[in-house]
Amino acid sequence: MNDSPEIITTVRDLRARVSGWRRAGETVGMVPTMGFLHDGHMSLVRNSRAQNNRTVVSIFVNPKQFDRASDLEAYPRDMDRDAALLAAGGVDAIWSPEPEEMYPPGFATSVDVSGLTDCLCGATRSGHFAGVAVVVTKLLLQCLPDRAYFGRKDYQQLMVVRRMVADLNIPVEIRGIDTVRESDGLAMSSRNWHLTEAERAVAPQLFGVLTDIAEVAGRGEDVRPTIDKGLKRLERAGFGAVDYLEVRDAENLELSHRPKRPARAFAAIYLGKARLIDNVPVDTPT
Ligand code: AMP
Repeated sequence: MNDSPEIITTVRDLRARVSGWRRAGETVGMVPTMGFLHDGHMSLVRNSRAQNNRTVVSIFVNPKQFDRASDLEAYPRDMDRDAALLAAGGVDAIWSPEPEEMYPPGFATSVDVSGLTDCLCGATRSGHFAGVAVVVTKLLLQCLPDRAYFGRKDYQQLMVVRRMVADLNIPVEIRGIDTVRESDGLAMSSRNWHLTEAERAVAPQLFGVLTDIAEVAGRGEDVRPTIDKGLKRLERAGFGAVDYLEVRDAENLELSHRPKRPARAFAAIYLGKARLIDNVPVDTPT
């Protein structure tokens, strides 16, 4: 049985703990999360543990990145369960500030990453990436780890964070980690918890559709007819509103119907109450 990680709730205590490690010559990895952890999060933790002496996991449901109060309210939380998982995973500290510690009265600063945030989730969730950018900037500066770990499941977020860290000279190395899936292909997500049994049974079709689209793109063919077929298949399966289903360049995120450079197939679509997002890489012809 591993020792429980210390739960730290103030910036002051976090800084004291991390500087103690640094003085001892230890390296630090950070895994930012919103909690309600699953094996996707734990894969980031395993990477951090393998590559650093110490690992800090932040658990903070960031009010600024939710575009609807009801979505923030419904976001699942379970600190006891998360702490037990992180203890078993060998994490050293949990950084879990209250919203008032993160955003004290008078907080007035924003971080705006232009371009990359115009499409995909940025086009449909207003203010989302502004919220992500400010909280990730703060998390990285509060902890100042050597490396921070982000999932490719939120690929656009990873690209936005990389851009921002480079532009602002934040001295942290950003590492992207592949998506962890259930055995039937569904990308693990805290939001899957909202799915009914019937919805859970059809949910993996999203990965199936993305895989078909990526395969066609990989053969150098126009993806649009396959996207249309995919949309019909998802509708028949009971999926709801589609925010996007498209292929984009893996670096600049520009639309790409017949990609010649590394690309990815991206989707965001509702299934019942849950908004599922996923993406898969295209193996472009060399
Ligand atoms: P979240 O708690 O959903 O904000 O996610 C925290 C971090 O875990 C983000 O960097 C996500 O991209 C990553 N993540 C979420 N789900 C997965 C997954 N299925 N596989 C790998 N990483 C994930």
